Amino acid sequence: MRYPLWCKVGDAPPAVPNYNDKRGFHMLITVLPRPWRRVACTLALVALATVIAPSGFAAPAAKALRLYILDCGTISPMDPALFSLKKEEIKGDASFVSPCYLIVHPKGTLIWDVGQVPDAMIPDDGTEVVNDRILKATRRLTTQLAALGYTPKDLNFVAMSHYHADHTANANAFAGSTWIVQQAEYDAMFSTAQLGIRTPDSYKDLKDAKRITLHNSDHDVFGDGSVVVKSAPGHTPGHQMLFLRLKHFGPLLLMGDLYHLPEERSLDRVPTFDFDAATTRTTRKTVEAFIRQTHATAWIQHDPATYAPLKKAPAFYD
Ligand SMILES: [Zn+2]
Repeated sequence: MRYPLWCKVGDAPPAVPNYNDKRGFHMLITVLPRPWRRVACTLALVALATVIAPSGFAAPAAKALRLYILDCGTISPMDPALFSLKKEEIKGDASFVSPCYLIVHPKGTLIWDVGQVPDAMIPDDGTEVVNDRILKATRRLTTQLAALGYTPKDLNFVAMSHYHADHTANANAFAGSTWIVQQAEYDAMFSTAQLGIRTPDSYKDLKDAKRITLHNSDHDVFGDGSVVVKSAPGHTPGHQMLFLRLKHFGPLLLMGDLYHLPEERSLDRVPTFDFDAATTRTTRKTVEAFIRQTHATAWIQHDPATYAPLKKAPAFYD
């Protein structure tokens, strides 16, 4: 432990201690014999850390809700048929972006989706790496968090829209956070069945993490309605979305992979690889009604055209 200056002043106590000295604790320390001084200083520092720690000693707190958008890579163009669309029906080339999101609330922090290339694979010097043929990244998630003043250990909550490999790459780094997950998703993630688009090694440390388990239900993360994890099954058994009420921006829905391409929404198409297409359609109806009712802006997370004009960290939405 490093001791502050007031713990080091003078090697020996003064011959005549002055108990009226207004410097208080400092003087009490200096009148103690040296071994006792060390004990007193240690106790004082532990007490100080205990008082400061709950409000986040290292991590910056925010006075109002903030959303930071982090760059977790891109996905190479895919066959539109995977999304039940023809090439001539879509505007782009079916390439995706894969953002991660940091939510900072006065009462705590949440990371939403954790990337598609593990940080350990990324040189972080701007060189692009490719994971699993099509998942690309140039920047580490942890480096981007550090630039904002956070380490994974600082974050109170972790949640992912779903278990597909392009959302879970760095999940193990957040095993010390409380994991918000639907029971159906948890069961699929750790099932022994052969499931596609799943990289269990990337999230294995979450298996026994502290968690809030939901049963096809929503969860108000900080208790004031401003950050709500919303159940949206179909794409996967326990797929979920994140609803935010930002003071200046207004209501915002991060839709996870309820849609990947805007044309899925406008032409009513469901990807071929959805867990349950009928459930996806039911969920979409409920979600579209929710968007109309709340007047929320709804972002398709993977859509490059939605993503391009958005403010990226260190800028933020509040
Ligand atoms: Zn995805």
